[in-house]
Amino acid sequence: MSAVLLDGKALGLKIRQSVKERAAALKQKGITPCLAVVLVGDDPASLSYVKSKEKALAEAGMESRDIRLPQSTSEQQLLSIISELNKDDKVHGILVQSPVPKHINEEKINAAVAPQKDVDCFHPDSVGNMVLGRPGFLPCTPHGVLMLLREYNVLVAGSHVVIVGRSNIVGKPLANLLIRREYNATVTLCHTGTKDLKYHTLQADILIAAVGSADLIKPDMVKEGAAVIDVGINRVNDSSLPKGYRVCGDVDSAVIQKAGFFTPVPGGVGPMTIAMLLQNVIEAALATAGK
Ligand code: NDP
Repeated sequence: MSAVLLDGKALGLKIRQSVKERAAALKQKGITPCLAVVLVGDDPASLSYVKSKEKALAEAGMESRDIRLPQSTSEQQLLSIISELNKDDKVHGILVQSPVPKHINEEKINAAVAPQKDVDCFHPDSVGNMVLGRPGFLPCTPHGVLMLLREYNVLVAGSHVVIVGRSNIVGKPLANLLIRREYNATVTLCHTGTKDLKYHTLQADILIAAVGSADLIKPDMVKEGAAVIDVGINRVNDSSLPKGYRVCGDVDSAVIQKAGFFTPVPGGVGPMTIAMLLQNVIEAALATAGK
């Protein structure tokens, strides 16, 4: 048996097409949805992420305010740039690419972004609203995972979802969203303190890996027919390739023979994250239009 591939590239494109139409409608009202993309330092992976976000914005007829800052930027400098962007009516969303350099307190940066422009859903108010089920932006990667499950009619209600990884960006918000009544999943959250990871992953009807460890999840850790969602994006050195590395997820691709559903890397969750980000920028711009 080979799994049904959950094609995030195709679904992401569909969502981006609808975003493009909504952006065009907003433009007719004199509003061009705009995201400020702030990158501090020159980490190659971060640079490639922000470039793909900026490209996607342009393709959707939206604007990006590209702000590149040197590694030496101080916390205070970054905070004052965010403060300016908060006041700028032409900017609807603000994204500060994570991670920021170690001398900058990321929590302070997240809390400095105005909640109504917090399209990444990192501000404590946004997180609180999400946990309480109040209106607000949903975090892009978890929302993208939920959209993929819905698109392919993967049964979530009543299912046991096991998530490996408890980060603030992926694992924790996903667990919180999946226990909402509208999803009704039973969730187990695993991390480095989990005893016998394999025992838990084998229980999963839906297994979500968000770890950052190449090929950690092996076929013998997966229940036959489970839906396996691989959030991981890892660079593994490979001198035989022109770039000198290959990109892979947290799940060994041999799992495809055992799973019922499977997200490829690349082409699974990654493109969904970008699509959901664009959707949040549109929502932020729409809120401006409604004022
Ligand atoms: P973090 O490093 O913030 O969190 C990793 C989590 O995995 C931690 O909770 C950690 O546990 C847990 N973990 C690490 N090793 C193990 C192990 N051996 N067994 C069990 N748990 C373990 O990572 P992120 O959540 O930010 O990212 C995870 C992966 O997802 C990365 O590859 C990242 O690049 C990718 N990513 C992809 C996105 C996309 O759009 N597709 C978006 C965001 C991230 P503990 O808390 O105990 O340390």
